[in-house]
Amino acid sequence: MREFSYISHPAKVYFGAGSRKNAGNQALALGMKRPMLLSTKEQFDDAQAFSRASALSPVDHFGQAMMHTPIATTNDAVAAFAKASADGVVSFGGGSTIGLGKAMVHRLGVPHLAVPTTYAGSEMTPILGQTDDTGKTTFSDRRLIPDAVIYDVELTIRLPRQASVTSALNALAHAIEAMYSPGANPVLDLIANEAVKVMVESLPTLASLGKIDSKVREDAQYGAWLCAICLAQGGVALHHKLCHVLGGAFDLPHAETHAVVLPYALDYNAPAIPEVMDRLKTAFGTDPGTWLRDLLQSNDLPSSLGILGMPRNGIEEAARLALAKPYPNPRKLEENGLRETIEAAWRGKAAA
Ligand code: NAD
Repeated sequence: MREFSYISHPAKVYFGAGSRKNAGNQALALGMKRPMLLSTKEQFDDAQAFSRASALSPVDHFGQAMMHTPIATTNDAVAAFAKASADGVVSFGGGSTIGLGKAMVHRLGVPHLAVPTTYAGSEMTPILGQTDDTGKTTFSDRRLIPDAVIYDVELTIRLPRQASVTSALNALAHAIEAMYSPGANPVLDLIANEAVKVMVESLPTLASLGKIDSKVREDAQYGAWLCAICLAQGGVALHHKLCHVLGGAFDLPHAETHAVVLPYALDYNAPAIPEVMDRLKTAFGTDPGTWLRDLLQSNDLPSSLGILGMPRNGIEEAARLALAKPYPNPRKLEENGLRETIEAAWRGKAAA
């Protein structure tokens, strides 16, 4: 007997090389006559070039988006929005910039066009994480899903190698967890299977030091979109919760933490998800945990929590925090097993 629920989130998606050139028209179609452009400081010039190429004509460009959406930054952006009499936001960048766009929608209820330039996937989800002095709070609201998304492979060509791999692994984790989270369902399984297949095919080239051709970039972006649907419509379990705890407690970088933790979270859950592990073994052609560890290590990419800067004496605390707020997970969460999992991820070596 099958029992499941299925939610489909409405959003317009435009996919294709050069599709950014239509962003001005898309913003107009969403009712924006006075759009405000958002980016990070690092992508300020790229966002300006995008704006010119797409005839967006923004009334202002707020170029201070930051990782984990600090509420203080959102306050500044909202003030700039009011001063410019803007009527919608266009977020150009990765999860940090799109997060700022969502935070502004949360406050102002204005239209939002997202133009992602990494593989992290925030553009398809109703989830917003925000930070202040007391830490990070995450919540979900369907109204936060951007009204339209433009995926243009040409905007990902210069994404650095490490950010390409780590944000692609962040995406892959969305698809993998959707296979066994409480929101798993047959439609999402089809999407997750395709997402995992495409990401596993693309990742070795993204990780290599050689030139990445645009076909691989296009595949990775397509896979990332599917992974993002999995996060939006499925749910999360131990992997995402652990990354949330570790990132918050030890100020670790978001995408890199996902990249490191994924094989260890999977090792922990493997005994409870034999059917999913069989599907993953087919997609990876081998044990997925081993494949994921090798990918980072053989390409000289950060492969342990220790390398990311987590102190060894934080392992106990991390295990305690991971247990503090219960959440659904296929394998029962227990302290010893979690401590071993975090310790293995800290060392960058599978538990014996
Ligand atoms: P990011 O947005 O922080 O970008 C990392 C850096 O790379 C930034 O300096 C950015 O300007 C730069 N960059 C981005 N695209 C580039 C490109 N094409 N070329 C050159 N430089 C580029 O990184 P991210 O991994 O995309 O996002 C991480 C953030 O997103 C975290 O805050 C995380 O919590 C959030 N996130 C949220 C969701 C969600 O559903 N709410 C999902 C995934 C990630």
